[in-house]
Amino acid sequence: MPDIIQLLPDHVANQIAAGEVVQRPASVVKELLENAIDADASEIKLIVKEAGKTLIQVIDNGMGMSTTDARLCFERHATSKIKTADDLFKLHTKGFRGEALASIAAIAHVELKTKTQGSEIGSHLKIEGSEVLSQEASVTPKGTTITVKNLFYNIPARRNFLKSNTVETRHIIDEFHRVALAHPAITFTMLHNNSEVFTLPASNLKQRIVAIFGNKTNVKLVPVNEETEIITISGFVLKPEFAKKSRGNQFFFVNNRFVKSPYLHHAVSAAFEGLLKDGMNPGYFLFLEVEPTTIDINIHPTKTEINFDNEHAIYAMLRSTIKHSLGQFSIAPILDFNRDANLDTPYSFAGKKPSIPIIEVDKNFNPFQNDRKTTSFRSSFRKEKTASWESLYVGLKDINEHVNASEENKIEGLNLENIEFESEEVTGNLFESSEEKTGQLTFQLQNKYIISPIKSGLLVINQHLAHQRVLYEELLKNMTIQEGVSQQLLFPLGLNFSIQGLKTLLEIKEQLENTGFVFSKIEKEVIEISGVPISISEKNIKNVLEQLVADLQDEVPDASFSQNDVLARSMAKSLAIKNGTALAEEEQEHLLHRLFACKEPTISPTNKQVFVTLSINDLDKKFN
Ligand code: ADP
Ligand code: MG
Repeated sequence: MPDIIQLLPDHVANQIAAGEVVQRPASVVKELLENAIDADASEIKLIVKEAGKTLIQVIDNGMGMSTTDARLCFERHATSKIKTADDLFKLHTKGFRGEALASIAAIAHVELKTKTQGSEIGSHLKIEGSEVLSQEASVTPKGTTITVKNLFYNIPARRNFLKSNTVETRHIIDEFHRVALAHPAITFTMLHNNSEVFTLPASNLKQRIVAIFGNKTNVKLVPVNEETEIITISGFVLKPEFAKKSRGNQFFFVNNRFVKSPYLHHAVSAAFEGLLKDGMNPGYFLFLEVEPTTIDINIHPTKTEINFDNEHAIYAMLRSTIKHSLGQFSIAPILDFNRDANLDTPYSFAGKKPSIPIIEVDKNFNPFQNDRKTTSFRSSFRKEKTASWESLYVGLKDINEHVNASEENKIEGLNLENIEFESEEVTGNLFESSEEKTGQLTFQLQNKYIISPIKSGLLVINQHLAHQRVLYEELLKNMTIQEGVSQQLLFPLGLNFSIQGLKTLLEIKEQLENTGFVFSKIEKEVIEISGVPISISEKNIKNVLEQLVADLQDEVPDASFSQNDVLARSMAKSLAIKNGTALAEEEQEHLLHRLFACKEPTISPTNKQVFVTLSINDLDKKFN
């Protein structure tokens, strides 16, 4: 057989990479704005026409590029921001992949004008579909102007896939807000179709928030500040009465990079507990600073998700800091306006000298005396877990079939079923452990229920139904806002379906693609898949799709909404962890956090109750 493998030409490789980096005009806006910030610009102007479909231009007064760099910056993996793999763990720039400009130049008409501080003359470069058309010397001010025209001109499928101008403009404005909020000291302007949409002078964070969201925002903000060894938290939350039904106004920045984190969101929501009406969402602009070596921002191609080393500690600190800020805020108006006259100093006391109050102290008290009492349930549980650890590997069978969601991958390959959660070491200490106070203590019953103490008693959660709810909301969201992230399969996977089955799948192809499926070929009875949503592991693909076809054929949905619904429900059902699957303690907690970040945590997409509460009252009655 002759040799058949060849290296892809650069422009093809760049186009493929562009698929990851540039999903829509807003992605270009984000990359260009971030480059301007990395170039230390103090003034950045964004000009957009027709929702970025015809023009996106970013003008900065940053450091500019030399003539050689102006050419090199469009090469793939060309970056000035990291040199060694080690640098990945101490990032201080927004970019580092060196892919953005190469990708953009592969799928648009791009022009670059740039000049560095010291040079007399700058460069002007034109590039289309990765091909450099011209490079000339040019008179231009210090800094860089990048002009991107006719995005996706050479990928019509992509271009057709773009949403209405209103939707695409919304996405651009979202990106603009995120960057502008993270850098209040930089002056930003944005023009859309020749009219000025935002003019944001250099300012502090509060002024920046007000400049973006309007004057009325000023009175709604509650400052949040906390500094500990592992994290510095600053920013603002919106007073509870300004909470909204929608999920807008929720911003997390970690080391000044915008991130999405359902986990952190949950911590904030927990701090607002009892202060918000049902279905209302808190608003926040929170900045978290941590040691760059303790986070991993590299897990997501568009870099908005994040992993922390100290996830649990950060959760607890964030929650208590915000609670504290909210507490201070609700006390403040009482002191200012509704002063209780009884607290005033009587006139007759005015001239008296204060005397030192006498405090009685139990000198014999030693907080460390009773060691036994301070052993927490959790630590005794941990001991138990490690003790039986080695025995877990004895007679290890493939239990992977039980574990369907790849998100729960951590538990694959470990047979935890023998662990006795009701360890003898569990004593009355349960209610004295510090973890109990933060409400994070969980354990698993019969590998089926997760038990978690709450203030008023106990929660008993069905793990399978809980995970169904979590996946269902995620999938539905991905389908409607089309943000499903897909993972490329190493080898495309061909699956056979009946003609009828294939027809059913074709009808929902678009929705499937929105969840993250990529279909490389659909012919006769074979469907070839080259990418899948990250929540699906390769061995599950067949199952999920077959179940889906079956479910869809059972129901005959009419409106596209209900079709999305059937799809999300079916996938959630087949992907959710099964009852009988052992979950590590962190996994139980993670599932709980995700469940309670859901819109409807109480009920599964299949209409079953997800958890029951057992109140202290209920228990008391049993002992009567
Ligand atoms: P990355 O930002 O990941 O390094 P990019 O493709 O976005 O990759 O940019 C490649 C390189 O081009 C950057 O590392 C930087 O050196 C240079 N560059 C891009 N935009 C600008 C700009 N606005 N000003 C100065 N240099 C820039
Ligand atoms: Mg960049």
